[in-house]
Amino acid sequence: MTYYLEVRNLSKRFGDFTALRDVSLDVVEGEFVCFLGPSGCGKTTLLRSIAGLDPQTSGTISQKGRDISALPPAQRDFGIVFQSYALFPNLSVTDNVGYGLVNRRQNKGAIAKRVAELLALVGLPDAGPKYPAQLSGGQQQRVALARALATSPGLLLLDEPLSALDARVRLRLRHEIKALQRTLGVTTIMVTHDQEEALTMADRIVVMNHGVIEQVGTPQEIYRRPATAFVADFVGSMNFMAGTLVAPDRVKVAGVDFACPPQEGLAPGQKVSLCIRPEDVRVRDLPANIANRVPVEVAELDFVGAFCRATLKAQAAADVAVTADFSSNLIRDLGVEIGTKLDIALPPDRLRVFA
Ligand code: ATP
Repeated sequence: MTYYLEVRNLSKRFGDFTALRDVSLDVVEGEFVCFLGPSGCGKTTLLRSIAGLDPQTSGTISQKGRDISALPPAQRDFGIVFQSYALFPNLSVTDNVGYGLVNRRQNKGAIAKRVAELLALVGLPDAGPKYPAQLSGGQQQRVALARALATSPGLLLLDEPLSALDARVRLRLRHEIKALQRTLGVTTIMVTHDQEEALTMADRIVVMNHGVIEQVGTPQEIYRRPATAFVADFVGSMNFMAGTLVAPDRVKVAGVDFACPPQEGLAPGQKVSLCIRPEDVRVRDLPANIANRVPVEVAELDFVGAFCRATLKAQAAADVAVTADFSSNLIRDLGVEIGTKLDIALPPDRLRVFA
């Protein structure tokens, strides 16, 4: 199978600093892919290599089966939107959006028609005569999006397009960009450090750390089956408990044995982290014979709005704690407060084990 975009063994060095280390990645046509990771992990560098703006040190990139590794940006087929809008301040919105079309020597009528179409597409049908300084940040970013789409590129590259916007505008644009991408079917890669943005917008997420890819998967896969401790920690909230693998499907934490999914590739005796998400800790209606029951005491209770996140200390080992989520109703029904003693259970199928 030929993928729309094939990145093979890509490395990028800046002097003696390695920003990308042997990165390989396939992108399917029409897909929305997010590069997600902490600051400095190399996601922008990877995006810029794909655009030809920061050519790779080694490795290859193909688009639609054509090797584009050595092509300058102008000869590659993409549109790009940067975090900082990057509109020409002295050009009207119409001229900003039509800029790439003028360069392609299209005739005036065709350009005007296309610009009107694009401005309607991004929800700014009347903004044409305005100048960038007369627009809000969100509006400028829509214009930047229209400009990036003007030449109908096969690939849309978005470099943290929402991070300079305030929270409300960011949420709205998230939905609008996703809807637009779906309508146009344009293959899209977006860089973000915001996990929620990646989880809500992406078809697949590429989680990066220190210049390498940690995991590629659908949002559900990344969240439910993180491949590494880094991914587990970076995406969503996760409890980490230090323990020892004592059998392929048992981890001992502070003297207590927990049943867990069978671990291949880890040897008994190995130090591991036993992990569970706060929302997966079972806090009520425990059957008598439930696995992984732990008597705990509520040590902290943080109101988070829709629910409370409790820090629960094991009664048998005060240095072992997990956080768990309680709905406000549950807090009331169970009469939970600081100091309350109760039993919780860690469902084995919800536990993850990392070396
Ligand atoms: P951020 O979200 O902060 O932009 P990022 O994951 O996008 O992070 P990159 O911008 O790709 O990170 O940078 C990866 C690493 O490469 C960083 O450590 C950065 O300092 C380094 N780097 C990037 N560009 C250059 C450059 N032109 N010269 C030297 N080092 C660079």
